[in-house]
Amino acid sequence: MLKNDPLEQWDRDNFFHASTHLAMHARGETPTRVISGAKGVHIQDRDGNQFLDAFAGLYCVNVGYGHPEIADAIAAQAKELAYYHSYVGHGTEASITLSKMIMDRAPDHMSKVYFGLSGSDANETNIKLIWYYNNILGRPEKKKIISRWRGYHGSGLMTGSLTGLELFHKKFDLPLAQVIHTEAPYYFRRTDQSMTEEQFSAHCAVELEAQIEREGADTIAAFIGEPVLGTGGIVPPPAGYWAAIQAVLDKHDILLVADEVVTGFGRLGTMFGSEYYGMKPDLITIAKGLTSAYAPLSGSIVSDKMWKVLEQGADENGPIGHGWTYSAHPICAAAGVANLKLIDDLNLVANAGRMGTYLNAAMRDALGDHVNMGEIRGDGLLCGVELVKNQDTKQAFEAADKICPTIVGAMAEQGVIARAMPQGDIIGFAPPFCISEAEIDKVVDVTKKAITQVL
Ligand code: PLP
Repeated sequence: MLKNDPLEQWDRDNFFHASTHLAMHARGETPTRVISGAKGVHIQDRDGNQFLDAFAGLYCVNVGYGHPEIADAIAAQAKELAYYHSYVGHGTEASITLSKMIMDRAPDHMSKVYFGLSGSDANETNIKLIWYYNNILGRPEKKKIISRWRGYHGSGLMTGSLTGLELFHKKFDLPLAQVIHTEAPYYFRRTDQSMTEEQFSAHCAVELEAQIEREGADTIAAFIGEPVLGTGGIVPPPAGYWAAIQAVLDKHDILLVADEVVTGFGRLGTMFGSEYYGMKPDLITIAKGLTSAYAPLSGSIVSDKMWKVLEQGADENGPIGHGWTYSAHPICAAAGVANLKLIDDLNLVANAGRMGTYLNAAMRDALGDHVNMGEIRGDGLLCGVELVKNQDTKQAFEAADKICPTIVGAMAEQGVIARAMPQGDIIGFAPPFCISEAEIDKVVDVTKKAITQVL
């Protein structure tokens, strides 16, 4: 690395960063971190500092960094055939093979996969397909979509609206009118603390049904939810939640979209989160874990029930007017094929399950009785640590938005990357599936030291 090289200046002058405080970054108050290499669970910056990445990038590098099998597959595909489109029945060996591999892994009642590039565009596709489906069925008024407060479904116009986090609406004139938000299954902060998990799940379902009845079930097309709330603070559902919600949706003929961008392909120790919680979705959103982020690729997996209607509608409506130039991009598809093969060969789904149990138990052992511990929660290889000012009353810190960025900053100085979730008082962990017990011990140890140092 050259000292005084211009990268930092170029960055500040030219680069509009995602999810960044623009003014602070322009003033140089937030660091420019230039990541230059990675292997396994470790990333390295250009100054040679090593970090254990306990959030797998943005919970996406599931197989870990630096696998030559995936890099070689990408290079071979680029040399052989860098691009061809998927319009009007075209495909490539890579994209067709990947569609088969996805459907072999998807729940039995699913039928086809439509490829996109990001979780956001896959969810946009899902909503369009839901509207198209209801129009074919002759019920044009059944269009509203219900999502949860604290849900995250992307940053597009519709997906930013579905996202139930204020930050993603503020000053963007979102949410759009077709979106309704319902209560988050956030048991820790339930209003009635006397409720059991099952009672709280039943309460969420009752609230949902009341909303549906207020709006009129014939105006509600679908409900979208992540099996585990991710960006909303790593919140697994309370016991019985998905069964209670599914019963309400089935009763009112409302489709279920399982947004499995984070949970798809093994993060919970099962291939899909739907499997883990017994959900029966009509659409499944996949992205991150499909290629472990070696190349951008996403998908909308469509159920038999929806596919039949879409296919029948084609003779009357002609080709479906929905396509991306890069849908099923062969280089990304080649990365997907190599990634899914690697997940099988290295038995990474089972490892994610085992290491997830270890991580959550180790975090509870180390930090469970800390005076500022609100809750340590997680399923599979997802763990959220929520801090409070007062354990008895669950009173939040006044400057909640400052606490976790500071703790996470202190952790980075000790060589571990975790994520300060947008709420400010929750630290998120979602490491690559190949993480070992010894590496988890380091993550837990550094978390404990940083919390003790800051609080
Ligand atoms: N859905 C979920 C559950 C996500 O966590 C994310 C991103 O974190 C998205 C959708 C959006 O994916 P992308 O950032 O690839 O558009």
